[in-house]
Parts: sequence; C-alpha cells; structure tokens
Amino acid sequence: MTSPIPALLGLIAAIVLSGTGVSAESPAAIRVLYDNVARDKQCEADWGFACLVTGREKTILFDSGARGDLLLANFEKMQMRPADVQLVVISHNHADHTGGLLPLLEANKNTAVYLPASTPETLRANVRPNAAGVTEVSQPIEICKGVSVLGPMGREIIEQSLVIETKNGLVIVTGCSHPGLIEIAEKAKAQFKRNIQMIVGGTHLLQHSDEALQGIIDDLKRLEVRKIGATHCSGDKAIARMRAAFGENFVEMGVGRVIEIGE
Ligand SMILES: [Zn+2]
Ligand SMILES: [Zn+2]
Repeated sequence: MTSPIPALLGLIAAIVLSGTGVSAESPAAIRVLYDNVARDKQCEADWGFACLVTGREKTILFDSGARGDLLLANFEKMQMRPADVQLVVISHNHADHTGGLLPLLEANKNTAVYLPASTPETLRANVRPNAAGVTEVSQPIEICKGVSVLGPMGREIIEQSLVIETKNGLVIVTGCSHPGLIEIAEKAKAQFKRNIQMIVGGTHLLQHSDEALQGIIDDLKRLEVRKIGATHCSGDKAIARMRAAFGENFVEMGVGRVIEIGE
C-alpha cells in the first residue's frame, strides 16, 4: 500500500504554487495585462499595451502600458505578481509602452531590461539604477531558452518584437508594429527559418484603407501566418476584417485575456 503522505505533500505544494504568481509548471501563456481593448470586466482598459509571458525558462513582461498604477492593479486582478517578472522587453519608446516600466522596477529590482538600441538616454538613465541589468538590443538576441528579441527595426520609430519558439512554430508579440506587420513577420521567418504559428499585439493599421488592409491580410496568408490576435493600435476596422478573414484562427485580445501558446 502506498503512503498517503507523499501525495498529501504534493497536493500542498501544488496549492502553494498555484496560489498566486507563476511557477515553472505554469502552462505556457501570454497574459494581456494592459490594452485599450476591453475584455475582462475585472481589468481596467486604457490606451497602451503590456503582456506577460509565462511557462518558459523565464517570466517575461513585454512592454509596460502607460500607467504604472493600472499595470500593477491588473497584475493583481490577473493573479500575477510583479515580483515574478525576471525579464522586461520594451518594444519602443512610446509612453503607452514605457509608462509602467519604472513603477514595475520599483516593485521588482531583480529584473533585467532589454531596450531597443537608440532608446533615449533619459529613459536609460532612469532604468539603470533600478534594474538588475540593462541590455541595449542592436541585433536578434536570445534572452532565455527559446525566447528571443527580434532586434530593432524601422527608420523613424525604432521597434523590436518578441519571438517565442513553440513546437507548432513561432509566436510573435508586437508592440505597435510601427516598422510594418508584414516586415516583422518576414524578418522573423528569415531569422528563425520556421513557420509562424501566431502573431499577437498592436498592428498599427488605424489609417489603412480597405484596399491596404486587404493587402496586409493577403500578405499574412502568403506568409502562412496561422493565427492573428490584432489589438491596441490596430483599429476597429482592421480587427473586424482580420476576424472575418481568419475565422476561428483570429485570437481575441484585450486586457485580462490569457492565450495559451503550447510548449
Ligand atoms: Zn502603442
Ligand atoms: Zn507606438
């Protein structure tokens, strides 16, 4: 007969681990912590974007929204802890993506921060004393096993995206896609030589005409992007058209969403 004690201890450990925050056992997921698209009534929506990647070697915050108080409140409402963040990746130097960074670092000074090259010295100087390390990214770099920053792109607005390798292909997380959604997808495909399973984040298609939007959708299909979750600065029209074009492979976004990404 097996003793019930080890099983009981295992159960207690599972309860402790699942109480709040994340552990290595957490399912691989992207949690939308900040988005102007409202989804979950508990979380407050506001213009900006941030999401948390869990279930990988490190827990990664991608962007930080506009307001620190709101970012930290949404952490709590999603039963996540700022203290669990190990790496922060900032996509670009716009206040709706960087505004929560310093408040997050005040809550957790053990975090390494990845900023795109050409980030203004004013921001770098504020981050340096409050972070475990600051890396200025100038080319594609793996930040933990299977998770990379694609490196800065664009001419006027320099921006970088996050790439998570999964057994089904690449999962790309974008901030605003100022360098171009299609350009980002093409660079990721060329860099990793793998198919794109999913793109989630801002796609900056607010000003696009119907024809231009159709062109983007055609290009996404040509690149065999399987799923898309357009949000933030994508615009209602672009979101509706992508939802129609991708059907069940359109990923609903919005603050409070948890998107499982698989191993
Ligand atoms: Zn933005
Ligand atoms: Zn932007």
